[in-house]
Amino acid sequence: MTEATNQARGGAFGIEHPIGVAVLGMGNVGTEVVRILRDHADDLRSRVGAPVVLRGVAVRRLDVDRGIPAELLTTDAEALVARDDVDLVVEVMGGIDPARKLILAALNGGKSVVTANKALLADYTGELAAAAEGSRADLYFEAAVAGAIPVVRPLIQSMSGDRVNRVVGIVNGTTNFILSAMDETGADYADTLAEATRLGYAEADPTADVEGYDAAAKAAILASLAFHTRVTAADVYREGISKITAEDLETAAAVGCTVKLLAICERMPGGERLSLDGSAVAAPGDAGGSAAGKDRVSVRVYPALIPRRHPLSSVNGAFNAVVVEAENAGRLMFYGQGAGGAPTASAVMGDLVMAARNKFYGGRAPGESVYAELPIAPIGDIPTRYHVNLQVADRTGVLQAVSGKFAEHGVSISTVRQEGFDEGARLVVVTHHAPESALADTVTALAELESVTSVTSVLRLEGTEE
Ligand code: NAP
Repeated sequence: MTEATNQARGGAFGIEHPIGVAVLGMGNVGTEVVRILRDHADDLRSRVGAPVVLRGVAVRRLDVDRGIPAELLTTDAEALVARDDVDLVVEVMGGIDPARKLILAALNGGKSVVTANKALLADYTGELAAAAEGSRADLYFEAAVAGAIPVVRPLIQSMSGDRVNRVVGIVNGTTNFILSAMDETGADYADTLAEATRLGYAEADPTADVEGYDAAAKAAILASLAFHTRVTAADVYREGISKITAEDLETAAAVGCTVKLLAICERMPGGERLSLDGSAVAAPGDAGGSAAGKDRVSVRVYPALIPRRHPLSSVNGAFNAVVVEAENAGRLMFYGQGAGGAPTASAVMGDLVMAARNKFYGGRAPGESVYAELPIAPIGDIPTRYHVNLQVADRTGVLQAVSGKFAEHGVSISTVRQEGFDEGARLVVVTHHAPESALADTVTALAELESVTSVTSVLRLEGTEE
């Protein structure tokens, strides 16, 4: 659209009224946002219909050379947000407070907000969305999930006429880098984490990434959007990758699989887990869902085996991907750079242009949609296939004793693989779908068997047809 067309259409403020932007934070993402705002000012003006002007940038330290005029920098984020010439606030400082208070102040003052802050959104979307609704401002957060990859807007807008059944993603680049490298090199977890830290893929304190907190926050956001239900981080079942061993990757490879940290958001029609073909998953011993016929949702993050033919298995290194399955659209896959300053800034800028256009033309972003209010199913109600790795005595009768324990607890075995070692054997058992409680009881019983030296690992298996 040309500027002349924009002028002809006019705008809420008229073409000469610039859209004033405050950026809170100038770290990895903020630096790139400021760069794009300054380098692409002409394009942005044409796309928005009015000049987009950087009013100021809030940081903690003023004694750092950031390559922008010193008068743009401030440590007083509150005063920057409150300025009369600020129409839009981009929050890229991270953390809960003061980010939350600053966003609320902006929204309550009728200023639209673009944020990349998944940790904040995973717990406070309700409060922030209510503030946006109250002042008819916009709250945009495409960058909060999977960096540059557009997945928030597709879920909120493109798929708003469809019924999403499942969202499965690799949404954390650090853990995907580590698991891909372990798969490729055979190295153990500690060495690979050290290498990831050295290369800048893992932070000095990697807990939020490797223990799955970051992925859980993103899963909460995705599930809320997919199922029109408010899901917070506390609703997400979470396991990290810090216990994954080189042996897990090796035994996974032997059954044609790799291991990925998956964020899984599933609709459970009638309370039951849906299989890939859309039918309910049958699991012997499963009570059939405690909600007795009511739709529920399950949101969980854990490392799982997936077959090498699954589209997510080829997502390697720090890349992210999200697969969305919907009743009418079928399966969609979104793939790309899930983190990094410039890729994340790309998503922030897309939101900024939308928010600025809304300011100019008087439109509004879609508000929060939580009308469905579906209950969250506990992890114990989710039937899953398992990959159980055992060290056992290498003698006759062991296989029978082991399979007997699975049968006793109603867990049906799909395949068993045995490898002999000097002082024993390794048994790898892959099960059909079983409720977690049945599997946990089986593992306890196996550990008590005299012929079982140890239950080395229990991992879930996802993405199979059975
Ligand atoms: P970062 O590099 O740590 O930068 C944070 C910035 O915020 C710094 O400039 C810091 O100032 C400033 N800041 C922090 N607390 C402040 C306060 N109280 N007052 C004023 N300024 C303050 O963080 P980032 O990696 O850019 O991430 C920013 C946000 O984007 C986070 O919510 C993150 O989860 C999200 N995100 C990041 C990525 C990514 O790849 N990095 C991807 C997706 C989403 P100083 O420079 O003075 O320390």
